Parts: sequence; structure tokens; C-alpha cells
Amino acid sequence: MDETLLLEEMTWPEVGEAIAAGRTTVVIAVGAVEQHGPHLPLLVDAVRGDRLAVEVARRLGDALVAPTIRVGCSEHHMGFPGTISLRRNTLEAVCLDYAVSLARHGFTRLCFVPSHGGNFAPLAEMLPDLRAAVAPACRVDAYTDLVGFMVFWRAAVAEHAPDLVRRVGGHADIAETAEILCIRPDLVRSSRAEEGHVQEFDEALMERIFREGFRAVTPNGVLGDARGATEAIGASCIARAAEGIAQALGR
Ligand SMILES: [Zn+2]
Repeated sequence: MDETLLLEEMTWPEVGEAIAAGRTTVVIAVGAVEQHGPHLPLLVDAVRGDRLAVEVARRLGDALVAPTIRVGCSEHHMGFPGTISLRRNTLEAVCLDYAVSLARHGFTRLCFVPSHGGNFAPLAEMLPDLRAAVAPACRVDAYTDLVGFMVFWRAAVAEHAPDLVRRVGGHADIAETAEILCIRPDLVRSSRAEEGHVQEFDEALMERIFREGFRAVTPNGVLGDARGATEAIGASCIARAAEGIAQALGR
């Protein structure tokens, strides 16, 4: 059997041996189950989290991957059928229990990596409490720069299709659709990929989305434009995001 980084796929002796051998970092993706336009399924951020966590763990080295927290803070997507949202307190309670459990086994570093925009601010806010709960034996970090994350996607699309960079809007757009073409191509309804609200993602747009809700900004649920996505663009989006996040977390 190939060596796995996924905690869930390991036996308890294997986890114990990994910790004893110095594999003491755990990456935890924090995803969402929410609308992703008319062409992508609700699980997008959950499976992107699965993949991103593995890619970040590989780049950090000496890291394992905890089960993705699949449902996140998606109140701003509740205007669309199917979205499930955790309250901030619920998400914090789940993250806290992950952290305390992992720290009790001897892991010394935990890295929370959001794969959904609505989880960035809650993670930044809860970080002091997470840290206090497991200090000093265990250190907790989180990647919380949402506007910075968009830079990775724009760079990846620019590498393959410079004239399509404007289609990176941050949600169910060319970049995110491309990632799902890599991860779960069977679930992409390509014929329904369309343009949404096209505007560069910045602080002002982010505030408007969280204040008014997604549906008020984009009736089809897309920020950016989903058309033109390819598997090659998706592979670059995943690699650049993992590289940038691993660097920010400090390998
Ligand atoms: Zn998403």
C-alpha cells in the first residue's frame, strides 16, 4: 500500500509512528457545502479542500492531513437552494475540538486552510482562542488572506489564457470551475457554464457580498465568468494556491 498522508486512512499504530518520527504537523481544510452557480455542484469547496490540504501538506513536509471540515460559514449563500451553513460559533467549536484532539496526541503544529471565502474571517477571529487552547505544546496557524488568495488564481489563469483573467471573480468562475475539472470532472455541467457578476474581487466587493448576500450581487451565483475553464488551468490554480499558502504558513 502507498503511504498516505490522510489521517483517516491510517491505523492508530501508523499515526503513533508518524508522530514519533517527527511528522507532527497537521493540515485541516475548512470547506463549504453551498451553491456554486448553475454548472457546479454544492460540494465544490469541500473537495477543493480535500485536494488543497494534501498539496499544502506535501509542500510543508512532515505533515499529515485531517478530515476536511466539509460544511462552513455560508450564510451569504443561503439565498440559493441547497446551501448548508454553520454559525460562526459552531464552526469555532468544531475547529477548537479538532485542535484539542490533535494536540493531545502530540501534534505540535496545526494549519487551518480555508477553501471557502466565508471561512477566512471566522478563522482569523477564532485564531487567538484556538492558540490559547493548545499552547504552549502546540502551535496553530491559519491562512486568512482572501484577497491574497485571488492573486494565485489570477496568476494561474494568466499563465494559460492572459485575455481571460477578467473572468476570475472568486466564485464558480473560470478558476474554480477549472479546479473541479481536475478534481471531479464528472460533476461539471459544462454546457451550463456562464457569465456572472464580473468585477475584480477586492475589499469593497467582499464587504458588499457579506452585507447584502450573494444573490443580491449575482442572480446566478457566479462571481466572474465560468466559461473557458480547462483542466490545465485548474492544475495551475491548485498548484499556485498550494505553493502560496505553504509559503505564507512558512514551511
Ligand atoms: Zn467555492
